[in-house]
Amino acid sequence: MLSDDEFSEIIISGAGPAGITTSLFLSLKKIKHTLIEKEQFPRDKICGDALSGKVLNILKKLDNSFVNELYNNNEIYNPSKGIIFVSPDFTKVEIPFKLNYISSDEAPGFVAKRLNFDNFLFNKINQNYCHVYQNCTLTNVEKTNSGILADIKHNGISFKKKCKVIVACDGANSIISRKLANYKIDHHHYSAGIRAYFSNVKNLNPEGYIELIYLKEYLPGYFWIFPLPNGNANVGVGMLSQNVIEKKIDLKKMFENTLKFNPKIAPRFESAIQQTSFQGWGLPLASKKMKISGNNFLLCGDAASLIDPFTGEGVASAMLSGKLAAETIEEAMEKDDFSATILRKYDLKYFKTTQAETRISTILQKLIRNEKLFNFVLKRISKNNELKNVLTLMFADVNLRKKFLNPLFYFKLFFKN
Ligand SMILES: Cc1cc2nc3c(=O)[nH]c(=O)nc-3n(C[C@H](O)[C@H](O)[C@H](O)COP(=O)(O)OP(=O)(O)OC[C@H]3O[C@@H](n4cnc5c(N)ncnc54)[C@H](O)[C@@H]3O)c2cc1C
Repeated sequence: MLSDDEFSEIIISGAGPAGITTSLFLSLKKIKHTLIEKEQFPRDKICGDALSGKVLNILKKLDNSFVNELYNNNEIYNPSKGIIFVSPDFTKVEIPFKLNYISSDEAPGFVAKRLNFDNFLFNKINQNYCHVYQNCTLTNVEKTNSGILADIKHNGISFKKKCKVIVACDGANSIISRKLANYKIDHHHYSAGIRAYFSNVKNLNPEGYIELIYLKEYLPGYFWIFPLPNGNANVGVGMLSQNVIEKKIDLKKMFENTLKFNPKIAPRFESAIQQTSFQGWGLPLASKKMKISGNNFLLCGDAASLIDPFTGEGVASAMLSGKLAAETIEEAMEKDDFSATILRKYDLKYFKTTQAETRISTILQKLIRNEKLFNFVLKRISKNNELKNVLTLMFADVNLRKKFLNPLFYFKLFFKN
């Protein structure tokens, strides 16, 4: 049973990237707290496992040695130097994450199985400031006059716990989002994803480029191949839930058919060995903004629907939200005020940091539903090195990415040779 002390004033539910990052930043601030997790580590999370430079930047803010440790662990960390975009007509564009690599440069992105990456993060938890309980499930939450009353089941025993603030890091099916923020799935802003691990996939990029293959039948979702250490790969598909429902699609079947029969994909899987079954999970997308705090609660990561609607990237936003949640809790503690008015600063900070990028991703996700336009744009880019360089710079610099919002960018794209 959880102790009844200052640690339990702040409860984080869920030890994914959002929950652990919240905990690590609270510990840096010497703020005591409790983290509960329904599984036992090491635990898996269904994901594409592609992690961008934004993840590394947050790790660096926590402790530079974390990043060095990852770089030196080639059993779990596979460096990735860029992205390969493939349009429905199979036009291919390779965009490095950085211009003019020199051999000593660290790769800006990486691919790591979440089983390993999350366990790596879990082992960094500072138990001087964090009481961690595994096999510990939040089963219900309710708002009371003085804070939050949480129903918890730990190793089969149920009990109630009061806290001043609860941080929802309990993922796509967050009980806290549903109960306290009245969250309901909107299938226009939600994706379904399936992945499996393979070995022996042909033509994996030697520099770890991740492949986003926008097959017509999945638009605006895509088929992916993300290279892992030891020649393995995370292979999967993502598709907007609304399309899955409207077209009555059996996504698993469609994925299997792609692997077996797509003339460009199947040959790469001829001698591939499937190491795991097809497993699926939901992706709550940031294309629909929601309130991510309220009286005595904060929502982070998937519980706050923060996944990039164009790329499906959610680990970086989960970690960023965890960092900002910890900063907001510090402020609220100083004032001993966990009301919605104070915690709202978290919404403001988070959306100020990410709104330009989310807007661009939402626009791109809408644009690529038009298959012909997508083919045309990728053809233009494939023939224009200057444009490829601009796209590379855009990966590195969010401010440059704002060019996507400028009509002049599209004029140059369509009309300039
Ligand atoms: C198929 C697929 C592919 C994806 N590919 C990528 C990718 O390549 N790159 C990327 O960046 N993102 C990707 N994402 C998104 C990414 O997986 C999520 O955005 C990310 O895991 C969110 O982190 P989180 O900490 O918010 O939630 P999670 O990682 O889901 O962690 C939630 C934690 O809470 C625990 N929990 C849940 N309920 C309770 C409860 N009631 N009580 C206690 N604990 C609880 C869970 O066990 C889990 O440990 C993908 C998602 C899917 C489904």
